[in-house]
Amino acid sequence: MTFFIESLGCAKNQVDSEYLIAGLEARGLRWVGSPGEAEIIIVNTCGFITSAKEQSIQTSLSLKNRFPDKKVIMLGCLVQRYGAELQREMEEIDGFVGLDDRQSLWQLVSSGVQGEAEEGSSGAGASGKDLVTSRRRFLSFPGSAYVKVAEGCSNHCSYCAIPLIRGELVSRRSDEILEEIEELLGRGVVEIVLIAQDLASYGRDRGTRELTKLVESVLGLEGEFWLRLLYLHPDHFPWDLLDLAVSDSRLLPYFDIPFQHASKPVLSRMGRSGSARTYAALVEGIRNRIPRAVIRSTFLVGFPGESDEDMETLLSFQRECSLDWVGVFVYSREEGTPAYGLPARVGRKVAEARKRVVEQAQIAISESRLDRQVGRTLDVLVEEPVQGKRLYLGRAYLQAPEVDGLVVVKADTLEPGRIYPVRIERRAGIDLEASLA
Ligand code: SF4
Repeated sequence: MTFFIESLGCAKNQVDSEYLIAGLEARGLRWVGSPGEAEIIIVNTCGFITSAKEQSIQTSLSLKNRFPDKKVIMLGCLVQRYGAELQREMEEIDGFVGLDDRQSLWQLVSSGVQGEAEEGSSGAGASGKDLVTSRRRFLSFPGSAYVKVAEGCSNHCSYCAIPLIRGELVSRRSDEILEEIEELLGRGVVEIVLIAQDLASYGRDRGTRELTKLVESVLGLEGEFWLRLLYLHPDHFPWDLLDLAVSDSRLLPYFDIPFQHASKPVLSRMGRSGSARTYAALVEGIRNRIPRAVIRSTFLVGFPGESDEDMETLLSFQRECSLDWVGVFVYSREEGTPAYGLPARVGRKVAEARKRVVEQAQIAISESRLDRQVGRTLDVLVEEPVQGKRLYLGRAYLQAPEVDGLVVVKADTLEPGRIYPVRIERRAGIDLEASLA
């Protein structure tokens, strides 16, 4: 029996999809790379915000329309949040599986599979604990792997549905994470990307924040590799990480810190304690300690009560701090979240216009930050060749997977998944062009 997984949403969902592939293959099914080849199609959905919910529903329906004779199963966050409604309204879909309901997935897919694998060996538990060491296939480019260090979140930002979907913060045991990373490095992975809903809260459910200690133990491992950290909440940024990044270049000086906004009144209604002043001090502190540090962030515009003055605060913060990369999102009103009932809602058109203003302003900023790299020699992790050209696409320390620009390397034969030193020759938009050093 063959299956295909359409993994929607965030990097954390992608990791879940990779564990699922391991679990299903351990049960005798075979993963294929396209829905056309598969007998079972699984859609790992996202239920975070309206646009993601719509994409999950449309993707599932269009797959079922394209392949009416195949089994199409929806699972993950959207089902966890709206299981009953989906079952009622989407009769054409063959199955619905929530986040902590792996058993029903095995039952759904097991009809037609010869010879059941022994119980428990293929991840009957939702924790995925027994799946950790058996992740075999990666949906990322070669050489790079996400490692999820915790599930859920206890920050309860007022606009966020994730705690409703994934529950309170549950941090994995550090020895388990280390074992997984050792296994990945042993299999030739050269970039480890640590992720969680809020990486900076790792261990908090056990009483203390343990991210720096975890990073220290990872850096205790032998060998050349990159360690990248994503999603560090600014209100509890672990400053001692900077010392580690200064002393060990394997910890990339790339800091993904979702500020969400810069206006203090807006941030406090979001359930966040920062301000333009404290966030600017954070950026300055990082850059003073590590001048080549790269900072990515996200801004959320259109939050209830957001005034023109609040927007001006955000735009002047953006100008003043010149962050390297910024993603901008429009507030999505999510039932069950504390912000759902807030008055003074901002109209969609206004919010979208504000998003465009911030995005437009960011282009010039990102480009000027990138100009600093021209003439430098950087290590680049090659991801893939450009078909029909003597060119390869890759990423340097300043570029996270899937969200930032790329480095285009002129070369005859490079091996995807390997790191090569290159000389940056010029910037082209938000990409860099290079040749082998
Ligand atoms: S830190 Fe992130 S995941 Fe956690 S509640 Fe806030 S926005 Fe949601």
